[in-house]
Amino acid sequence: MASPAPTLSLVVPVYNEAAGLDAFVARTRAVLDGLGLPWEIVFVDDGSRDVSVVTLLAARERDARLKVVELSRNFGKEVALAAGLDHADGEAVIPIDADLQHPPELIPELVAAWRAGSDMVIAVRRNARQEGWARRSASRLFDRLFRRVASVDLPVGAGDFRLLSAPVVRALRKLPERARFMKGLYAWVGFRYTTVPYAVEPRAGGTSGHDGGRLWRLALDGITAFSAVPLKAASVIGFLIALVALLYGAYLVVKTLVLGIDVPGYASTITLVLFLGGLQLIGLGVLGEYVARIYDEVKGRPLYVVRARHGVDGSDAP
Ligand code: UDP
Ligand code: MG
Repeated sequence: MASPAPTLSLVVPVYNEAAGLDAFVARTRAVLDGLGLPWEIVFVDDGSRDVSVVTLLAARERDARLKVVELSRNFGKEVALAAGLDHADGEAVIPIDADLQHPPELIPELVAAWRAGSDMVIAVRRNARQEGWARRSASRLFDRLFRRVASVDLPVGAGDFRLLSAPVVRALRKLPERARFMKGLYAWVGFRYTTVPYAVEPRAGGTSGHDGGRLWRLALDGITAFSAVPLKAASVIGFLIALVALLYGAYLVVKTLVLGIDVPGYASTITLVLFLGGLQLIGLGVLGEYVARIYDEVKGRPLYVVRARHGVDGSDAP
């Protein structure tokens, strides 16, 4: 007998989360069962190296509403989310982290706001993030910068935890780009949204997959596997040279004023040469950033590769 189509889908990217998965399932299932509507949870295993998949499949044995998409390797959270959206059948889809930093107890509030007519219900962080000072300020700085340059509507404290109605999910599925910055894409598709505040919780277990060391290794992998990254070094070098040239120029001006001229025109010439050289490298670097992205998109590789599906069909997946 076929079960009724799920009304609510949770999409959970999973990367090395074995330690906390059972707790996540228990806590989330209690909340979902209280809602009194059909539901499913689509776990996307993002190439975990631990026993996450085994844990998930064991949980699925006990409850067929838990579904699993296994990616062939680690593609990163943004891509795992895209894969999850492609495999979710619900009329409403809620992306949520597996580490219980997004409290599942908020889900009834998200659903209520959706029922009241919102296309998208965004859970916004009320407290400071749990990640320590450096990362917190970096992310705040980035958010501010992004809001300014991208001219999209990005509520303060918004992340991936939110409810997306079916039209929003369909719009997101149509976005073909490989450079998937989900927060920006959510904003780009538009729709009417409301916000619901929540308090970020500490990680339930395991470690963050987004630590600095991992990002650094990823950057190195990128350089060796795809040769576009050296282009980008030009912008950094350009900035440094331009900065040094400015300081040196200021020094030469002061020195000339105090000690007199040693070679006529020397100060201004060397300053200009260095400064313009720096500016040109910045320009080249920026160009490189864009060319690299065009190169990436033009190859047209699929966003992700599925190793196995358990309980979901891939008919909406590319
Ligand atoms: N995650 C993923 N792929 C990755 C890194 C993380 O699917 O390459 C998942 C992870 O399992 C979790 C969510 O994305 O469910 C958030 O990751 P994490 O807690 O490591 O990030 P943070 O909360 O520190 O931003
Ligand atoms: Mg986390």
